[in-house]
Amino acid sequence: MTQSKIPLAGVIGSPISHSRSPRLHEHWLRRYGIQGHYIPMDIARDDLRQALEVLPKLGFVGINVTIPHKEEVIALADLVTDRAALIGAANTLIFRKDGKIHADNTDGYGFVENLRQGAPAWNPRSGPAVVFGAGGAARAVIASLVEVGAPEIRLTNRTRARADALRTEFGSKINVIEWVQAGNILDDAATVVNTTSLGMTGQPEFRVPLDGLNRAAVVSDLVYTPLKTHFLAEAEAAGCRTVDGLGMLLHQAAPAFERWFGHRPDVDEATRKVVLGS
Ligand code: NAP
Repeated sequence: MTQSKIPLAGVIGSPISHSRSPRLHEHWLRRYGIQGHYIPMDIARDDLRQALEVLPKLGFVGINVTIPHKEEVIALADLVTDRAALIGAANTLIFRKDGKIHADNTDGYGFVENLRQGAPAWNPRSGPAVVFGAGGAARAVIASLVEVGAPEIRLTNRTRARADALRTEFGSKINVIEWVQAGNILDDAATVVNTTSLGMTGQPEFRVPLDGLNRAAVVSDLVYTPLKTHFLAEAEAAGCRTVDGLGMLLHQAAPAFERWFGHRPDVDEATRKVVLGS
């Protein structure tokens, strides 16, 4: 089968109907007058390998990857970027013309760009980072915080063993703190981020005492439904600059769009409105 002239991209996962990526990429395609399509595809675990063989032949130039395939695609790719290898998961695949599959992880990039855009004065080197949570998203956040020079990362997670495992992988900049001590590690933080799923619509709120919070800290939440979580509202009330999680989703998508469709898209208020459906 020859490659279609109209490039196709998409997102694979299971389930996939909740994904906001189609709306985002279709918006950019229309905005920049690029011929192309972005398609959500529900792919079961057992079908992953076959899907990666077939999609390039159907004219796909690449795909985003979400739960539950982010880790497994690393083993199926021919080339893996250093950051994807470090995180142990990929969210972006590029199907190269030579038939090779290139895996990257842009989640950490998206996290950092979101903070840079939302809090231009943010200086991650100026103090410790506090990271709540040690799941998949935390791995990308920690890798990016190390890369931008956070001097120390205080990591706390309900299940301590997961945080300890990240310390083993990411090194001595990571200090693991007991979950019950979460409110006592904020005093001199430059960056504070919730990477747990707490606070998401349908989940319990993320509640941590913020009395010790440094007003100079930039506080972010990866949860973006709702946009203003209880945690962000409390941090704002404490006088901190806050950055919601939607921008991370938008910024992680920009490098993928550029690789697939040849145009670096803007992440701005119009993009946010489209993805929010307002
Ligand atoms: P994950 O791998 O399942 O990790 C979930 C994390 O939440 C773990 O640290 C888990 O702690 C913690 N957690 C869950 N329920 C808890 C509870 N009742 N009490 C305390 N901790 C609890 O999920 P993930 O992929 O890292 O995603 C985490 C969140 O980030 C999700 O809300 C996701 O939508 C969001 N996210 C946003 C973006 C973005 O672009 N904004 C990107 C990626 C992810 P344990 O280890 O103790 O279970």
